[in-house]
Amino acid sequence: MTDLGDGTRCVHAGLPEPAPGDPFLPGPVFAAPYHLDPWQGQGSSPNGYGRPDNPTRRLLEAAIGELEGGDCRVFATGQAAITGLLLAVLRPGDTVLLPADGYFPVRAFATDVLETIGVRVVFVPTAGPYPSLEGVRLVLVETPANPGLDVVDVAALAESAHAAGALLAVDNTTATPLGQRPLDLGADLVVASGTKALTGHSDLLLGYLASRSADLVGAVTSWRTATGSVPGAFDSWLAHRSMATLDLRLARQSANAAAIADLLAGRTDVTGLRWPGLPDDPAYPVASTQMRRMPGVLSFDLGDADRVARFITAARLVAAATSFGGTHTSADRRAQWGDDTSPGFVRLSCGVEDTADLVADIAAALDAAGPA
Ligand SMILES: *Cc1c(COP(=O)(O)O)cnc(C)c1O
Repeated sequence: MTDLGDGTRCVHAGLPEPAPGDPFLPGPVFAAPYHLDPWQGQGSSPNGYGRPDNPTRRLLEAAIGELEGGDCRVFATGQAAITGLLLAVLRPGDTVLLPADGYFPVRAFATDVLETIGVRVVFVPTAGPYPSLEGVRLVLVETPANPGLDVVDVAALAESAHAAGALLAVDNTTATPLGQRPLDLGADLVVASGTKALTGHSDLLLGYLASRSADLVGAVTSWRTATGSVPGAFDSWLAHRSMATLDLRLARQSANAAAIADLLAGRTDVTGLRWPGLPDDPAYPVASTQMRRMPGVLSFDLGDADRVARFITAARLVAAATSFGGTHTSADRRAQWGDDTSPGFVRLSCGVEDTADLVADIAAALDAAGPA
């Protein structure tokens, strides 16, 4: 389906061949064990036991794999996919490069778990500069990084990683596979949270990994079966159902983010505005060539925690909530979760509301919040 547009691919991704009497997307298959052929045993059907495999999950993996351009495995959460990759690939004595400004729980896992089992962890800012990759086993980048929204040139980094014998993994959560295709850019692996914009309805947790390397997919699949971090059939089905509208949701979210970025850029009472789609944003030169569309997430600073609370309280259309990429606009003051952002730092996730409504609401709420 590579000749078709994003919207068409999202609608058809992972669906079985049409058959009279069948639904478009088969409903969730709830099963722990399945009937086996008593003579042939477990080789008689792809379905034997629910931890290694499930038919609902297989369809979802086909859908995400089609959009990312690789073989996909889904996990219970994004955190399970990323920590599963790290633990499946890294051995004591290995060195891993992680983003200094990336998803906070992954950084915490690296220092709390990886370092204690003898893995050397090097934190590098997403925007660089990157050190020599000689002796590095795995480079994991997040681009755009959450929550700071810096980006890195994936094709250039893939080249230097491969020259040094390192693997490159890209966390594609913020961009989604419609925003960028890291495997096409030369990355060995994609990992992501499907909890965010990919499924986009704020009602499930999901993670995934995709790769064109059968060895890497095999290693991670074994890890997943051994540790059991699989999503349930209902969440897998709901995720697949939600992906049909990914193109539509991202289009509106991105348009809303562009309008809000314009609004905020014109206000003197908002500092530190970041959105990779703004031509004067430091991320723009790389983002505008590497990304196929801009994310619906932007970040800025309102000075202090109290002003953030006044802003969110005054807004009718901005929910106080963490996570991002959902249909409802939400704002998160990241410092409340203990990450290393400043007290007034806000990550705003634009939903799919009408652009004019959102711009008017946010402008009025900033006015009502007053100065810091
Ligand atoms: C949310 C997020 C994760 C973790 O995903 P969960 O589904 O919450 O476990 C990983 N990476 C990034 C960039 C995220 O935003």
